[in-house]
Amino acid sequence: MGANVSQLEREIGSDLFPPNEHYFGLVNFGNTCYSNSVLQALYFCKPFREKVLEYKAKNKRPKETLLSCLADLFYSIATQKKKVGSIAPKKFITRLRKEKEEFDNYMQQDAHEFLNFLINHINEIILAERNAGPSNGNTKTTPGGGATSAMASSTASKSSSTSNSNSNSNSTTNSNGNSSNSTGSLNATTSVLDASGSLTATTTPIISGNGTGTNGANSEPTWVHEIFQGILTSETRCLNCETVSSKDENFFDLQVDVDQNTSITHCLRCFSNTETLCSDNKFKCDNCCSYQEAQKRMRVKKLPMILALHLKRFKYMEQFNRHIKVSHRVVFPLELRLFNTSDDAVNPDRLYDLTAVVIHCGSGPNRGHYISIVKSHGLWLLFDDDMVDKIEASTIEDFYGLTSDIHKSSETGYILFYQSRDCT
Ligand SMILES: [Zn+2]
Repeated sequence: MGANVSQLEREIGSDLFPPNEHYFGLVNFGNTCYSNSVLQALYFCKPFREKVLEYKAKNKRPKETLLSCLADLFYSIATQKKKVGSIAPKKFITRLRKEKEEFDNYMQQDAHEFLNFLINHINEIILAERNAGPSNGNTKTTPGGGATSAMASSTASKSSSTSNSNSNSNSTTNSNGNSSNSTGSLNATTSVLDASGSLTATTTPIISGNGTGTNGANSEPTWVHEIFQGILTSETRCLNCETVSSKDENFFDLQVDVDQNTSITHCLRCFSNTETLCSDNKFKCDNCCSYQEAQKRMRVKKLPMILALHLKRFKYMEQFNRHIKVSHRVVFPLELRLFNTSDDAVNPDRLYDLTAVVIHCGSGPNRGHYISIVKSHGLWLLFDDDMVDKIEASTIEDFYGLTSDIHKSSETGYILFYQSRDCT
């Protein structure tokens, strides 16, 4: 290393700098930190990076898609001559803006919405390319339509208010209280999961085995499924006839409510607490052939390789008619085991390591800034757009949240990425 060795290289030290690793910041193209922070987190999710680079290697001249742009970006980082620096994800951002209208502007966006879009969209691209050929009868190959087939996973969240509160207020103010999800929604999770319009909980097939649908050629899981997809099982007990029905749902990430001075384990426990469905949220019991009060519980049946947890920090407050950031202190450990697993869970003992955290800095969903911290070869790094810094593991505590003044501006963990230790 010569005289132009960067500060970061000096801090890490030349003999400790991980071989074949590159720490490159991403240039901001006008409020694109929501994308930069998520891309860095994903780059350091090893199984994901490997699959994206493999895709790049296998597809020499692909049709330009968001996935090909992502693959080019990852490849470009991974093959830099320098160990540290910054790179401009221009092609990716241009493609993103072309792909989805909501992102086609210079406004701050919700990083979780972006992550959700990206993962689902990449999955659709892979499926579409797999079924390429006009005779396949798969008419849903236009990625980005938002509508997904029955096998697609999405964000899994618990309460019916979530479908609104998880979104950026750009798009949600209008739909809040008026969306199809909230009209007598029997099962909010289903309506969130299955955007194609199937709102009836009972029509969702119970999935067995590998957790994918049954629609022919598409039933093979993609590598996106293999990495991010888990299965939730919800058990509903009708309080009239006592019949228990259970239903499995795929998810790519879990959304949890945040409570003051708690931990992520607490949030997950609350996620799986028994919930009573009553008044206008009654359950349609097939046995009673009517809407009945019921008790419902959601637990994890298949634990994903990468567990993405979204902390619902943007709450819609009716009295303000907008989303408010909740900066509650929620501790997230470096090691995590799930306790809200079902009795028949496939792999309930998976031990997870914290790999990356997307952090929201600021006071509201449309204000502020996103950064990310990632773990790489035992080092913790902070990516703030084009800047990269080494941080101590103890610094992570600074991103748990605030114990008081919770509406104050804060730097808080927003999306957590846990990687299963058994995946190599
Ligand atoms: Zn019943």
